[in-house]
Amino acid sequence: DFGVITDQIRAHAHAAPERRALVDPQRTLSYGELDALMDRVAASLQRDGLQPGDAIGICAASSATYAAVFLGALRAGVVVAPLAPGVLPAAFANMLRDAGARLLFVDGSVAGTTGPAAEGSAPRIALDSSELSAPKLAALAPPKGALSPLGRPGGTEAGQPLEDWLAPEGAKPQPVAPQPGWPFNIIYSSGTTGEPKGIVQGHGMRWSHVRRGMRYGYGPQAVSLLSTPLYSNTTLVVFFPSLAAGGTVLLMPKFDAAGYLKLAEAERMTHTMLVPVQYQRLMARPDFDAHDLSATQVKFSTSAPFHAALKADVLKRWPGGLVEFYGMTEGGGTCILEAHAFPDKLHTVGRPSEGHDIRVIDDEGRTLPVGEAGEVVGHSPGMMTGYHNRPEQTRAVEWFDETGKRFIRTGDVGRFDAEGFLTLVDRKKDMIISGGFNLYPSDLEAVLREHPAVAEASVIGVPSAQWGETPVAYVVLRAGQAVTADALRAWTNERLGKTQRLADLRLVAELPRSAIGKVLKRELRDLYMTPPS
Ligand code: ATP
Ligand code: MG
Repeated sequence: DFGVITDQIRAHAHAAPERRALVDPQRTLSYGELDALMDRVAASLQRDGLQPGDAIGICAASSATYAAVFLGALRAGVVVAPLAPGVLPAAFANMLRDAGARLLFVDGSVAGTTGPAAEGSAPRIALDSSELSAPKLAALAPPKGALSPLGRPGGTEAGQPLEDWLAPEGAKPQPVAPQPGWPFNIIYSSGTTGEPKGIVQGHGMRWSHVRRGMRYGYGPQAVSLLSTPLYSNTTLVVFFPSLAAGGTVLLMPKFDAAGYLKLAEAERMTHTMLVPVQYQRLMARPDFDAHDLSATQVKFSTSAPFHAALKADVLKRWPGGLVEFYGMTEGGGTCILEAHAFPDKLHTVGRPSEGHDIRVIDDEGRTLPVGEAGEVVGHSPGMMTGYHNRPEQTRAVEWFDETGKRFIRTGDVGRFDAEGFLTLVDRKKDMIISGGFNLYPSDLEAVLREHPAVAEASVIGVPSAQWGETPVAYVVLRAGQAVTADALRAWTNERLGKTQRLADLRLVAELPRSAIGKVLKRELRDLYMTPPS
């Protein structure tokens, strides 16, 4: 059972050309308009000599235009590497080179970060011509000699507005028929634990998400609100199924809780994807209950720990289902928790998705029985064949069972219960070894969160002459709370085991987070180790 997402969009364009496909704060594209724009993008890429399997990069804030370029490229069989705008120029250049992108589509939000350091990069095409002001052009200019043969007449050396690059209205591409094994996109992992790694996902894997989506009521009437960035798999697992089913996708380029609630109510939102910290900010708003969110059918979450108490609060105060995914960009197994159906399993991430094999192994690579914690490994039909251009890192995450079946190591520690639900303990890399004991920061964070003044807590291990490593906490207080760091540390240490006690606790205004809302513990470790200047 395989289908092509861009063909589905064409079918909706024929059946209901006026229906809204994509809406951002500036632009609305109906299915008819989206389909025509996708054709122009695909035809332009073909005109520029791109073949199926060639790659382009897109680095921009979420917008309807961005989405149309992404989908148009897919229609030509071209692989898309959606890149995060916020990264440092050197990392950005690495990703662009690694992906082998032959064209780069940008918007004004990246002008500052893709400057001269983006060496060897591809010619740039600006998604919005108003963004091609002279200083921005200068910042976008690739270094001399870096232009690939695709630099086009009419375009400046630095870049070209999308409208100028696009084939004329009505242009039709040569038809291309993607196969399940064809690469669809290259996503760079979040880089939460190290350097971002390129992960190739195939058309078959994306289609499996569309099939899964049918279970959750996507259809022409669905209105999905997405406020996480389009370069993240978190967003894409909802984005493609919504459009393949003919629904409307509202793109919010920058999340803010008040704006989200207003839009969700006004648009009678039916589906959404939010990361846990977004749920937390929404539920903390005094006006949350005043909003009518009764059209909500399903809310999704993924990407970071979603604490049971917060899930319970969401279930109580927000109509509709709550579905949590646990998995990784690499594929290799997803667990699903339909929280509304299993209110006594909120401390878990649910059970393996159909056809996904997830196991827990020890340090020697033996499968562990139910109840015992170890590294989670997973096998799924659409999992990555390997990290793009990184055979060694690929081998490092592979695990094979006795029959030779291939699994991918998640780097997460977890355990199954007797009903087959997986509880996550922590990330392996975040484990603290103190005086020979293994400490999981999540256990300490859970104690901190019990204090009424604590909004968020993150625990890291820092070097200690006496213990090897010792735990230290960073805490964000709830608005209007004024407990001191010393008092909070004393309160917490009274509730912790002797080996777990916090050596230090620091109050901060916010925790460092990635654009997708993951706490960046490596930044906290750097912060702790850097003496104040
Ligand atoms: P990198 O691999 O570059 O360090 P990353 O692992 O954060 O980054 P992703 O593929 O975006 O990159 O995230 C997968 C990870 O996110 C999982 O391994 C897990 O640690 C965490 N995660 C995903 N879903 C959940 C969830 N529902 N609950 C808790 N953690 C989750
Ligand atoms: Mg990872």
